[in-house]
Formats: sequence, structure tokens, C-alpha cells
Amino acid sequence: MPLPLVWLDGRLLPLSEARISPLDRGFLFGDAVYEVLPVYGGRAYRMDEHLERLDRSLAGIRMPPVMERAGWLSVFGSLVHGNGGGDLLLYVQVTRGVEPERNHVPQPGTRPTVLAFVAPLPVVPASTIERGTAAITAADLRWSRCDIKATSLLANVLLRWQAADAQTTEAILLRDGWLTEGSSSSVHVVKAARLLTPPQTHAILPGTTRGVLFDLAGREAIVSERRPVAEAELRSAEEIIIASAGGGIRAVTKLDGKVVGTGSPGPVFRRLYAAFLATRAEFSTELPA
Ligand code: PLP
Repeated sequence: MPLPLVWLDGRLLPLSEARISPLDRGFLFGDAVYEVLPVYGGRAYRMDEHLERLDRSLAGIRMPPVMERAGWLSVFGSLVHGNGGGDLLLYVQVTRGVEPERNHVPQPGTRPTVLAFVAPLPVVPASTIERGTAAITAADLRWSRCDIKATSLLANVLLRWQAADAQTTEAILLRDGWLTEGSSSSVHVVKAARLLTPPQTHAILPGTTRGVLFDLAGREAIVSERRPVAEAELRSAEEIIIASAGGGIRAVTKLDGKVVGTGSPGPVFRRLYAAFLATRAEFSTELPA
């Protein structure tokens, strides 16, 4: 649940007083992009990577950047400290704004709506880290610009719901026999001790935690390759790892009810997870009070 103070269109105010027009294009069309980043001990994790991706998403929907880095720093700082700091998940959404009538073609000069709020960071249970989690596979029925972090997430919602119905945490998506990503995570497989990740194309989001895994693999001397991963490789993987800003990195030890590898989080996951914890402070930015 969001914490009481939110940031909307230039000011911090109580969530109970925040109002967005029904004519906002974000509401009418899903004409909006967003970011989600973790805050550990009041510090924003991989902040610059998130801000760069936000600007790329905006460019992808033909919108200019809404703020410089310094502006975002001050927004995040007031939001995080105003809500007491600690471990949080920060959500930012930029919509194309409110227009006088519903029209697919946007009008020039519309002022974007900018909303940000924080919620307590979901805690990944120790049992999930020790034993791993379960996932299903599903056909990737999303659109063909999944590199844009758009709020139009109907397909992702339905896919994740399907995973929940099967008492699993994620739907791992396949398109034409190839791995893309999860409904809300990047997906990595280990084959012959190498970390394999589908290449960055329009079919997947440029995941920030995916970037963290590449950095950590480099430091840990784990060979990582960005190349297409076939469904058969996913199904015969030694390890499967899912990664996201909100959920961190987790091992998938059951896929479609079948055991992955040994059935326990494998050595590549364990090394990456230890490195992930050890580098948290280094990868985080202090926010102004
Ligand atoms: N892919 C999709 C579809 C997502 O929704 C997410 C995160 O929500 C990710 C990948 C992982 O991206 P990140 O690591 O930046 O959270």
C-alpha cells in the first residue's frame, strides 16, 4: 500500500487529496510510461539507469524528458524522506496529460501528468532465496514494443494472474519457440555454467536488474552471453533466474510443475545473489533531505 505522501504535478500532498482527471490520457488510453525502483535504507538503487530508461520510454512514445536528473533527485528525496525513508519501492508515472476531449491523436502542448509514490519494499521470504520459486510458461501475447515501459499492461496482468492461478510467482513467456522474459521480470538461464539472456530487442524490456546481473557476472567471472534462448534450452536449463527491481533476483526451481536442475537454487544463482547483496550500497544513490 502506498505511504501517505505522494508527489503529483509539482507538489507533495497526502494520497487522500491526490486527484487525477478522468480525461487524463493515461486513464483513457494507457498513454503513459512508468518506472519502479527500489530504495534501500533511503538510497535509490540504480537511479541513473532507471532515469535513462524513463527518458527512453518517453522518447518511444514521442514525449520529451519531463525533468533533469537534479529535478528527479529532489522529487525522490522529498518523497522518500517525507515518508520516513527506509526500504521502499518507488513508483513514477508520466502520462501524456489531460486533454479537453478523447482523441487518439494527441494535441501539441499538453502538459504531462507526473505522479510518484512510495510503498514499503516487498520482502522476499528467506525460504524463497533458499528453495527458489515456481513459475509457469505461457505464450507471450503482448505487443511488439515491449522495450517501452508503458503502463498499458493488460497482457502482463492476465499472464501474471494465470501464474497466480497455478500457485506460482511468475509466467515465463515464449514467443514462436523463443524465450522473451517474465510478465514482470527478466529471465536468465544457466547452461554449461554460462548465464544466457535473450538479447535486447523490441521484444523485451531493458531490465535494470538484468543490467545488474551482467555487471555482477563480470565481477564474479561468470561467463554471460546475450543470445536467443530456445524453449528447449529453457526447459533443460541447469538454473533459471528471474530478476526485477521489486523482487530482486530469485531462482526458479520448478517450471510447469517440473523440477529445474537439482531442484534447489544453483551455484550461479548463489554467487550472483551474494554479490547482489554485497553491492547494494555501491549501486545506490543518496537522496537529498
Ligand atoms: N520485464 C518486464 C515485463 C517487467 O515488467 C519488469 C519489471 O517490472 C522487468 C522485465 C524487469 O525490469 P527491472 O529489472 O528494471 O525491474
